[in-house]
Amino acid sequence: MSYGSLFVISAPSGAGKTTLLKMVLQNLSGLAFSVSHTTRPKRPGEIDGRDYHFVSHDEFLRLQSAGGFLEWAEVHGNLYGTGRAQVEHAMAQGLDILLDIDVQGARQVREARVEHTWLLFIAPPDMAELERRLTGRGTDTAEVIALRLANAKREMASMDLYDFVVVNDMIERAADTIRAIIIAERSRTRRNADGTPINPQGATHDQPPTDSPTGTP
Ligand code: ADP
Ligand code: 5GP
Repeated sequence: MSYGSLFVISAPSGAGKTTLLKMVLQNLSGLAFSVSHTTRPKRPGEIDGRDYHFVSHDEFLRLQSAGGFLEWAEVHGNLYGTGRAQVEHAMAQGLDILLDIDVQGARQVREARVEHTWLLFIAPPDMAELERRLTGRGTDTAEVIALRLANAKREMASMDLYDFVVVNDMIERAADTIRAIIIAERSRTRRNADGTPINPQGATHDQPPTDSPTGTP
C-alpha cells in the first residue's frame, strides 16, 4: 500500500484559495480535504463535519493538551487545529491530503518534519487586485477589508517558508499549476497521476517489448 502526501496551502484572505481548492478537489481523485477543528461560530450555510468540526473552547483545549493536533493556531481571535489522527489515517490509506491553514500552522508542520509534505502559498498578482477581490466578494465591511489587507502584507513576507508559490492571476492556470504539483509528487512517490500505486509489473522494463523479437531496442 502506498502512503499519501500532505499539501499545506496558505494564502492571504481574498487571494482565491477557497475557489482554487474547490476546483482542484473536483478534478483530481485520490485527494481529501482535512476538516479542521475550530472554536469560531458557524457561519450561515456551513455544516459541522464538512466545513469544520465546530467545538467549544474547552473541548479544543482538551484535544490540544492530549496531543490531538498536528498543528494549531489562533487566527482572528479564534482557535483552529488540524486533527493528527484524521490526517495520519487518511495518508495511511494512500490518500493525498490538503490542509487549508494559516502561516503559523504551516510553520509548525514544517518544523514537525512530516514526511512527504509540501507547502504551497497562493499569492494574488498584486495588492491592488487583492483589494478588488475582497471588495468584489461583498462579504466583508470596509474595516474588515482594511484589516485583511494589513494582514496580507505580513503573510506575503512569509512566502520564503513555502516550497511553491502559485500566483493566482488566471484562475484556470493557477488551478492547473496546483494540480501539476500534486501529480508531480505522485510521480516522485511512484504513483499514477490519479494517485493509485504503479503496478510494479507494468513499471519494470525486464520484459522485452512485444514488437521486438530479440528484446533489443
Ligand atoms: P479566499 O478563500 O482566498 O479568501 P476566495 O476564493 O473567496 O478567496 O476569492 C475571493 C474573490 O476573488 C471571490 O469573489 C472569487 O470569485 C474571486 N477570485 C478568485 N480567483 C480569482 C481570479 N484568478 N481572478 C479574478 N477573481 C478571482
Ligand atoms: P475561516 O474562519 O475564514 O474559515 O479561516 C480563517 C483562517 O484560518 C484561514 O487563513 C484558514 O486557512 C485558517 N485555518 C483554517 N483551519 C486551520 C487550522 O486547522 N489550522 C490553522 N493554523 N489555520 C487554519
